[in-house]
Amino acid sequence: MEQKIRKQLAKPFIFLIISLGILVCLQTSYRLTFQDFDFRFLLFVFVTVVFGSRIVVQIPGVKGQVSISDTFLMLSILIFGGEWSVILAGIDALFSSIRITKSPLLIAFNSSVFVISTYLTVWTLKLLFGSLTDLAHHGFTSEFVIALCLMGLVQYLTNSGLIATGVALRSNKPVWKMWRENFLWTSITYFAGASAAGFITQLIDKFGIFAFLATVPIIAVVYFTYTTYLKNVEAASAQAEIAEKHIVELSHHIAEQDRISRALKESEEYFRNAFDNAAGMALVSPGGQWLEVNESLCKMLGYEKQELTKKHFQSITHPNDLGTDLANIYKLSEDIIPSYQLEKRYLHKKGHVVWVLQNVSLIRDEKAKLKQYVFQIQDITDRKRAEDQIHYAAFHDALTGLPNRTLLSDRLSMSVERSKRNINYQFAVLFIDLDRFKVVNDSLGHNMGDKLLVELSRRLQDCVRKVDTVARLGGDEFAILLDDITDAKAASETAERLQEKLREPFTLDGHKFHTTASIGIAYSRTGYEKPEDILRDADTAMYKAKANGKARHELFNISMHTHAIEALELENELRVAVERGEIFPCFQPIVLLKTGEITGFEALARWNNPRRGIISPADFIPLAEETGLIIPLGLSMLRQSCQQVYKWQQKFIKEQPLTVSVNLSGKQFRQADLVEQIEIILHETNFNPNNLRLEITESVVMENAASTSDMLKQLKSIGVQLSIDDFGTGYSSLSYLHSFPFDILKVDRSFVTHMAIDKESRSIVKTIVTLAAELDKVVVAEGVEFEEHRTLLTDLSCEYGQGFLFSKPLDAVNAERLLVSELDFLGGKGNRVPTTSVDFEQVGSFYTM
Ligand code: C2E
Ligand code: CA
Ligand code: CA
Repeated sequence: MEQKIRKQLAKPFIFLIISLGILVCLQTSYRLTFQDFDFRFLLFVFVTVVFGSRIVVQIPGVKGQVSISDTFLMLSILIFGGEWSVILAGIDALFSSIRITKSPLLIAFNSSVFVISTYLTVWTLKLLFGSLTDLAHHGFTSEFVIALCLMGLVQYLTNSGLIATGVALRSNKPVWKMWRENFLWTSITYFAGASAAGFITQLIDKFGIFAFLATVPIIAVVYFTYTTYLKNVEAASAQAEIAEKHIVELSHHIAEQDRISRALKESEEYFRNAFDNAAGMALVSPGGQWLEVNESLCKMLGYEKQELTKKHFQSITHPNDLGTDLANIYKLSEDIIPSYQLEKRYLHKKGHVVWVLQNVSLIRDEKAKLKQYVFQIQDITDRKRAEDQIHYAAFHDALTGLPNRTLLSDRLSMSVERSKRNINYQFAVLFIDLDRFKVVNDSLGHNMGDKLLVELSRRLQDCVRKVDTVARLGGDEFAILLDDITDAKAASETAERLQEKLREPFTLDGHKFHTTASIGIAYSRTGYEKPEDILRDADTAMYKAKANGKARHELFNISMHTHAIEALELENELRVAVERGEIFPCFQPIVLLKTGEITGFEALARWNNPRRGIISPADFIPLAEETGLIIPLGLSMLRQSCQQVYKWQQKFIKEQPLTVSVNLSGKQFRQADLVEQIEIILHETNFNPNNLRLEITESVVMENAASTSDMLKQLKSIGVQLSIDDFGTGYSSLSYLHSFPFDILKVDRSFVTHMAIDKESRSIVKTIVTLAAELDKVVVAEGVEFEEHRTLLTDLSCEYGQGFLFSKPLDAVNAERLLVSELDFLGGKGNRVPTTSVDFEQVGSFYTM
């Protein structure tokens, strides 16, 4: 704040001084008497302006100068007595200033300062001593000397004071400081000037004005001597400045040195600490004895110093690491290597293992003879432990702690390699899959599922030897590597033992569970190259075990492999088949049991494979479901069936138009746009929806009752009939049955087949028929193979039937023949359609035409 004010004051001050200067000039001009203005004065002006103001003294440290013209000025005061001196001062200062600055303001200021100072000097002297010119005529009187001193003093004080103030204000520095530092010393110039002026006055007084001219060279010489002196002073001060700078730098340097040395000291301490605490250090004799050991090594290994120095490092090294250690020591001593680093284990005094990173180098004596080894030993037990944990996590299942697939594969690779080298070495892999795990997980929650898996893994481990590896592959899939077994029988026996053990009920949180497992076994004698292959085969065998009725084990054989490969090929072929339309419907008539009249057909998919012939749906429908191919396949079946039956409806006019029943798979049933797709096809084929029956198996219906109900309603809304397929096998609750908008119940084939021999089946069929009648639903019995079936069913008032008794599923041509023959027959006599009268043979599950 103060600084700001100071700077603001600079300009007013300068203007004030200039104004004063002008005032002084005006006042002086008014008083000028021209009697003093003569040749001498002009000479003065000339000398002063030409020489005096040119010979300037630089003020060290500031941009200021003092000219020698002061001497001439004071001389003029003494000679001319005042007013003219003020004018001279103005002229002189003007010329001097022009030379040192271009600023008009500063020129005016400088001139004003000199005018003022001279004016003040003149008037001080005049007031004190009266006429100045008289003063000089009496020689060096005490009055004259005082006057000289006063002249110098006033001149000096005013000049230096005003200029110091101006400079200080402009450069924003304290006035006093500025004056003291930069102007104090200039007093010499003034007093010397005053003395010289006094001396010259006396000379002029005695010898005339030309004596003054003679003094000029003397003054010049004095002046030059003086400036040289000043230059030296300046140089000295510059040097001092440099020195000062150096001193500052030096002190910084010293401080830095100090800091460094402190840091060094600290690090030394740190090092000492480190030596004692962090790393173990030791000097070891060529024979391996600990010669000198530090605190930290003793702590690390659990020994006192004197105990440890009695021992050899070999004796406390873990036996498994000793070999590598000694081999390195040997190489070191033979100069094969300059040093070595080794991760090894020491045995702690208490017996446990200490993992260390050991760095060994050696010291030789003057004769290059081995003197000592230097051991640097770092405890890395924690790191090793962490590494172990990471390693463990990478190779183990988090839930059960069992080895995971990666670790199993690793061990399998080793076994595979071993079996290649040693023909007597045999191993087997058991692939285990729980049969009902999904039920437990879904019904009791994942938490319980997890508990079951943990308990299961424990049981599996209990059944095998330590050398075997029990691994969890994921979900409820486990695999066991049976290492080094005598024969395949041993593997089967283990599987049996496992199944026995798993059959025991599990009790978890008070709940009792019964579970079984299906196990596939792959035996090493099959000759494996890769671990994945053996796992894959065990998996295939497991599937076979499941297919064969679950809760059993199956030993892998090559035919399974071919089967598995076939399945893979089949999938690829099926994809092409769907695209090329190789899938077509066969039609099995649904008849009125009493008369045998064909009321409609069930469309059953067949695959005409160019290489394999006709393939049964049992062999490709599940595959199509799995791969999603069922969607396009199902729609294609629907289209073809509607097209075909529409033709027959036109050709064979009946009281009730022929119906067509088309099977819908679970996956299709869950398609959001199913209804839309069906509508499109009905529209395309011009088929009346009332004559279309969509068959949905009971199990699909029951899978998700809520969403099923919604879909059924949508389907109903477009006018199609709905048929519940394989009824009696899906444990439907009757209340659901009631709420679902089904029109037809298809009694599962198994009940019909067993009706003749099994009373229970008969009563089930009876119940279904009664129930259906009550719920106003149509019943169709499947699998009517014999006349006996038909009689029993009609006795139970079951109206419709479907089965080999009437016809096997027929391709369109043969089905049409059947319709034609029926028409002929009905047109003739008799009441029954002949059983398969067409050239159609069944070979296993494959059909040939
Ligand atoms: P499903 O719907 O229960 O079809 C009836 C099955 O019983 C047919 O087998 C048929 O040939 C057979 N069958 C008919 N009468 C008798 C008989 O008297 N005795 C015996 N033992 N069997 C008889 P198919 O044609 O092999 O079809 C098997 C299953 O494949 C069908 O069972 C059905 O679930 C499925 N399927 C067939 N075509 C399609 C289709 O286009 N879409 C869908 N999603 N599934 C289909
Ligand atoms: Ca069906
Ligand atoms: Ca069925």
